[in-house]
Amino acid sequence: MSDSHNQRYDCVVLGAGLAGLYAAYLLRQSNFSVGVLEARERVGGRVLTLRTLAHQQHAELGPEFIDSNHHRVIRLAERFNLTLSTRPDFWGVSPSPPFGRKAQRAWRQFWNEVYALAAQVPDRHAPWHAPESLHMLDCVSMRAFAERLGVWTAGEPLFRRYTQNMEATEPENLSVYSIAAQEAFYGKGVHAGVYRFVDGTDRLPRALADAFCALGGDLRLSAPVDAVEQTPDGVRVYARQAGKPLTVQASYAIVALPFPVLTQLEWRPAFAPWRVDALQCAGKGAVIRTLVQFRRRFWREEPFPRAYPDRADISAIWEATDLQAGESGVLSFWTGGDAARRWASLSEHARIDECLRVLEVMYPDCRAQVIAARSYDWQADPFAQHAYIHHAPGYLTEALPLLRQPEGRLHFAGDYLSLFVGYMEGALESGERAAHAVQDALRPPA
Ligand SMILES: Cc1cc2nc3c(=O)[nH]c(=O)nc-3n(C[C@H](O)[C@H](O)[C@H](O)COP(=O)(O)OP(=O)(O)OC[C@H]3O[C@@H](n4cnc5c(N)ncnc54)[C@H](O)[C@@H]3O)c2cc1C
Repeated sequence: MSDSHNQRYDCVVLGAGLAGLYAAYLLRQSNFSVGVLEARERVGGRVLTLRTLAHQQHAELGPEFIDSNHHRVIRLAERFNLTLSTRPDFWGVSPSPPFGRKAQRAWRQFWNEVYALAAQVPDRHAPWHAPESLHMLDCVSMRAFAERLGVWTAGEPLFRRYTQNMEATEPENLSVYSIAAQEAFYGKGVHAGVYRFVDGTDRLPRALADAFCALGGDLRLSAPVDAVEQTPDGVRVYARQAGKPLTVQASYAIVALPFPVLTQLEWRPAFAPWRVDALQCAGKGAVIRTLVQFRRRFWREEPFPRAYPDRADISAIWEATDLQAGESGVLSFWTGGDAARRWASLSEHARIDECLRVLEVMYPDCRAQVIAARSYDWQADPFAQHAYIHHAPGYLTEALPLLRQPEGRLHFAGDYLSLFVGYMEGALESGERAAHAVQDALRPPA
């Protein structure tokens, strides 16, 4: 790693999450000089594996599951010899009483309508090119659509659990067209969440960073960017490292920062008004993940709890250690959407206590088995400020196609720019797209 404080690269990448790391790695593979500036003291951004648990067990505070069509993640795992595994022995439960027949029927009716809409999406790779009738539905929330169908009241608990678990928001904040577009984009036969990294998700960004550095790439950690200036022949980036100012120059920049952070930096010239407006349309998904390690895996002895709490802010509980050996085990508690916003005012201790209070209804003696616990609020993380994007009404058809555009010498990457909405695959795909665009600009076709 170079220690010069005034570097010039072909491309500087802002942010060493998966989007930035993959873009940097691809450009370096093509022999361009690349520097990466990362605010944290580690790579991976929202990929965060907890490795301080007892008995050498680990568990995820960020991403964990990989769909069968996340081909970039799967290919990189193969390239870096990282083992992915399916979940033959998976234990998970919703800590609310089972839903009745009426709710199930409402749920099916809603999805039948969504599948019918998905079949009408003309271009699944560019769903913003849609006839007026579909465009209009991008301004309709999941709740409003369910109300129109007359299935909201019966199905509300199921709709809420779905959006809290999958979209980190509530049905009022999610565009129904974006749900249909996602169905069309995925197509049939995709298995959701089938794979996990056996040794922890953080192995992926670490492997990418190692490969980038081995190719001679320049990675600077603990180097938060404050300002970015475009000049006639390039980009100048103002950061800090070890308390000292650090100025980096490059022909192009790939901005791979989470979208809530973008508007807090200084951009010279300022972002175009259309970008500022489009960024405001992006929905900040809220998630708090809580991990509790127990001496024994008592849930295995009684997979179906005897009782459920009346009401819980936790929408899912599952075992995080089913691929790991040992007598102890870790349960993962998911709090998403409005519940996560409410919990943001609680201390970490109070959040852990709330998880145990819910679990105690299901497993009365669980508290005595606790060895360790950690709760992480992604909204409070200064370098993320949200968990992942949800497509609020208007985002997909109005904002997303604009936000994917470069602005001068700035190209943009990040999971919020992909149709793999809020997934690691989306981060990689956006990084690949930005890297190819910069490559074309640096080496114009003959
Ligand atoms: C709780 C949770 C659960 C998830 N579950 C899944 C899942 O099961 N499967 C899945 O595929 N995805 C999941 N995701 C989504 C996945 O984590 C993201 O899609 C992906 O990691 C985003 O990568 P990124 O590079 O776009 O952004 P980030 O990882 O956020 O990277 C951006 C980088 O920019 C850095 N940065 C910020 N500000 C500055 C600055 N001023 N200067 C320099 N650097 C800066 C950040 O520190 C960070 O490293 C989950 C996310 C969360 C939070």
